[in-house]
Amino acid sequence: MEVRKLFYEDSQLHTFTATVTGCTTAKGGYAVTLDATAFYPEGGGQACDTGMLADVRVLSVKEQGQNIIHLCSAPLEVGAEVTGTVDWDRRFDLMQQHTGEHMVSGVIYQTYGFHNVGFHMGAELVTIDFDGFLPPEALERIEDAVNRAIWQDLPIRCWYPEPEELPRVPYRRKKDLPWPVRIVQIPGIDTCACCGTQMKRTGQVGLVKLFSCVKFHQGVRIEMAAGKRALDILCRTYQQNKLVSQAFSAKLFETGQAAQRMNETLSAEKFRVTALEKRIFSQIAKDYAGRSLAVHFEDSLTPGSLRELADTMAETCETAVALSGNDVSGYGICIISRHCDVRPIGAAAVAALRGRGGGKPAAFQGSVCATREEIDAYFAAV
Ligand SMILES: [Zn+2]
Repeated sequence: MEVRKLFYEDSQLHTFTATVTGCTTAKGGYAVTLDATAFYPEGGGQACDTGMLADVRVLSVKEQGQNIIHLCSAPLEVGAEVTGTVDWDRRFDLMQQHTGEHMVSGVIYQTYGFHNVGFHMGAELVTIDFDGFLPPEALERIEDAVNRAIWQDLPIRCWYPEPEELPRVPYRRKKDLPWPVRIVQIPGIDTCACCGTQMKRTGQVGLVKLFSCVKFHQGVRIEMAAGKRALDILCRTYQQNKLVSQAFSAKLFETGQAAQRMNETLSAEKFRVTALEKRIFSQIAKDYAGRSLAVHFEDSLTPGSLRELADTMAETCETAVALSGNDVSGYGICIISRHCDVRPIGAAAVAALRGRGGGKPAAFQGSVCATREEIDAYFAAV
């Protein structure tokens, strides 16, 4: 007997009663069949439902031939009448994404003639692939048209046209399909072959937000979200923007400019610091002129600046050792010479001072876990 697909009769049905027609052990649980079900099996890009059958968890649902298999956490008695409850928040979210996707695909098809050639519902975003290039300004226009159709709260019709009616239905499809074909129609927006569950009215989608559009194969890939999912992402983005606004003391809708200004200021500051360091480093180098071994500590240098310091010192002395850091977290060390291979000097130093490092004959760089006193004593002895 063919199972009654209650999810097609009423996509909003989330509690139902049915009779158990079969129960066998299966990988990961028990394969339960019913004479009727509101559990949607995976298909058409839409994930399957989960929920409860009596007091047993429905882990996943799959269509197999004429049957729909409910993978359950425990066995159910064949012949028993059970109450099924679909995890409604999950299904509602999946339907918001699915109907939203049809609306976006329909508007793009109507406006640009591009076909939806791929559709994936991710954990966060939905991606749709199209077989043509969209201009950058298109996204805003598509989003606007879709949301206006959502607010018009249009009725959505799902039906199987009779064989003689089907050729007169101009519907979108990925390939030619044999009769019977299930059609989903959103008036003025889209007519498409689809086996998924859909909202009854466009208003239930709530909103659609398009997040990105990038080149993909011979066309573009669009990232979108609909309904509560879109609202959640926008809320999280808003929270982040609030933090940025506080950090920059900028108005909520001027954080972009504030970040740009901060970047420019940072670049100018880096430039200024480098110029100042250059002057200070050559002064330091003068102090060590003529020494065979010069060891110098300087506060809070980046690894790049530390190397610059050692390099400047090496212009006036034989072997330059520059260090930066503190006794608690250790010191960065850079050894440079224009006269000898510094690798053995560096290797011996990091071995004695609990550190590590490496380099080339002219320059050795690493770190040591020792106090300034220990480092000074070590180099005084070599
Ligand atoms: Zn569909």
